[in-house]
Order: sequence, then C-alpha cells, then structure tokens
Amino acid sequence: MAANPLEQRPLGKTGLNVSCVGFGASPLGNVFGVVSESDAIATVRRAFNLGINFFDTSPYYGGTLSEKILGKCLKALEVPRNQYIVSTKCGRYKEGFDFSAERVTKSIDESLERLQLDYVDFLQCHDIEFGSLNQIITETLPALVKLKEAGKVKFIGITGLPLEVFTYVLERVPPGTVDVVLSYCHYGINDNTLEEVVPYLKSKGVGIISASPLAMGLLTECGPPDWHPASPQLKAACEAAAAHCKERGKNISKLALQYSLCNKDISTILVGMNSVKQVDENVEAAIELATVGKDEKTLAEIEGILKPVKNHTWPSGI
Ligand code: NAD
Repeated sequence: MAANPLEQRPLGKTGLNVSCVGFGASPLGNVFGVVSESDAIATVRRAFNLGINFFDTSPYYGGTLSEKILGKCLKALEVPRNQYIVSTKCGRYKEGFDFSAERVTKSIDESLERLQLDYVDFLQCHDIEFGSLNQIITETLPALVKLKEAGKVKFIGITGLPLEVFTYVLERVPPGTVDVVLSYCHYGINDNTLEEVVPYLKSKGVGIISASPLAMGLLTECGPPDWHPASPQLKAACEAAAAHCKERGKNISKLALQYSLCNKDISTILVGMNSVKQVDENVEAAIELATVGKDEKTLAEIEGILKPVKNHTWPSGI
C-alpha cells in the first residue's frame, strides 16, 4: 500500500466508496488509438494496484471491444469480485441508439458475457439525449429496475452531455429509481457548468460521476482525436493552453485532472487511460493534490487563456 493511498469518496446513497480517480475504459476500445491486449492488462492491473477501484465501459466503445478487453483485464487481476466496481451502459451501440425495454434487457446479458461477470455494479442508459426522454422514463428505466431485481445490476444510472436531461428525468421518476448520474466534459478547467447542477443532484440523493476531465483529449499535450466535436476556436484555445504549460515545464493534463478532483461533491472523476504511464501520472496527480495542493498560479494563467471559450460546448442529441 502506498504511503498516501488514493482517496475514496462515497457515491450517493449506494453505500459504495469509489476511488476519486476512476478508470475510463473507452481507450481500451481503441477509441484514442490502438492499445494492445498486453498493454491493456498491465494498465488495468497498475490502476487496481494503485487504488483505482472503479472501471467504466460501454458496449458502444470500440463496438463492444472495450467491454471484452476490460473483462479480460479484470479477470487477470485474480481478485475477489467485490474488490472492484464496474459500470457499463445500454441503449447506445455501434449500430445506433435503441432504448427499448427489449433491447436493454438483452444488452445486459451480452455485456455480462463480454465482461465475464455475473453482475455489474451500475448499468447506465448511455447518452439519453439521443433517445426519447419519455421512453427513458416510462420504458427504459422500468426495464432496468427489473434487471436490478434480478440481481444482474446493483444500481441504475443515466449519462449524457446536456445537463438539463438529468433534471428532466429525475423530476419524473419515482425517488430512488436513478442511483447515479454520469456527466462528461462539464467539470474541467474549460467548462465547469456541472457545478450549477450539483446541489440539485445532491438533494435527490443521486451519486455524481464526472467524466472526461481532459475534455476528451483537448487538455493534453497530444491534443484531441480527429473525431472530437469541439469548435475550431475551442480546440485552438486548448492547444494554446497546453503549449503555455509545456513552455513552463508544466503538464496541462495534470492541472486539468487536479482541477476536476477539487469538488468533493463529485464522487469520482473518470479518466480514459491507455498506458501504465498515464495511470501513474493520474494517480500521482491526485495524491499530490491531496498532499501538496494545486498549482494556483499556472491554473490561473490557463484559466485566463481559456476565458474566451469558457463553458463553450457542442450540440449533442436530437
Ligand atoms: P478524458 O478527458 O479522460 O481523456 C482521455 C484522453 O486523455 C485519452 O486520449 C488518454 O489517452 C489521455 N490521457 C489520460 N491520461 C493522460 C495523461 N496523464 N497525460 C496525457 N494524456 C492522458 O476523456 P474520455 O476517455 O472520453 O473520458 C473518460 C471516461 O469517461 C471514458 O473512458 C468513459 O469511460 C467515460 N465517459 C462516458 C461518457 C458517457 O457515458 N456519455 C462520455 C465520456 C466519457
């Protein structure tokens, strides 16, 4: 055990404690470049050994590849199932969206087979802004409740980019139906709009997961992948911020992750990781934040560079 273990935080009313840095497994589906199976296994093992206990995937990532690889990686850990927390999703697939009760009910069996698990801790409706919210409320979530009763799923979640879909759904389902909400790209240096919704989510007793602290690659030295939906203006500002950090011997990814970790009402920050090096850097960033604090000066400089694009997002959904 490291001298300064990675902090764990309670997740809503689930009774689970999740590591403040969570493992986003979309890179294992080769979404950000090819990752070999042996690298994936080493990366997940390192994450687990350094205290990361939460792993997030989806059948959508790499057209089921992420789930298959994550399943192999978790099996290779050879530790009891209750030592790690796994979330996957339903309703979004390589073929398109389908939030019907029939599809999501079949989907969990397919996911469990790929993950080589008997249950997942969370099953989340993936990017609900692309479905009919009425269907999510009246058909999809009730189907997930049945899966919970059947023991295939411990908790239920919803994910999406626009924040208003969360409040819309939570206002219309029986209390306790939705255990967790996964928001992405809304709690980072360039966009922290999730903050406005946090008090509401807390009042509903919903666990809060925030993903993509590096804004899906915008806040990295390498820059985002080709498919990144940000505007050219936002991409250019993030590139300038990354260059500014590099010139000063600082790493924008570290600063970005530390920024996201500061809000303790957010239980876990999901970072996509594809190498042992990234795991080491991200865990170190969290421990440094807890022990030394953040680099206020450089952070203020980056916030200045990103000010013209602050809270700029992109369209998502129908
Ligand atoms: P991210 O912001 O975590 O960025 C990932 C990128 O940053 C990858 O290219 C990765 O290689 C790189 N990276 C990671 N650590 C780094 C470091 N220390 N230095 C430099 N580069 C580093 O974006 P993401 O992967 O899209 O989001 C994290 C996870 O959250 C996903 O893997 C997924 O599990 C989840 N997520 C879910 C949804 C959803 O449900 N709708 C949306 C987005 C993300």
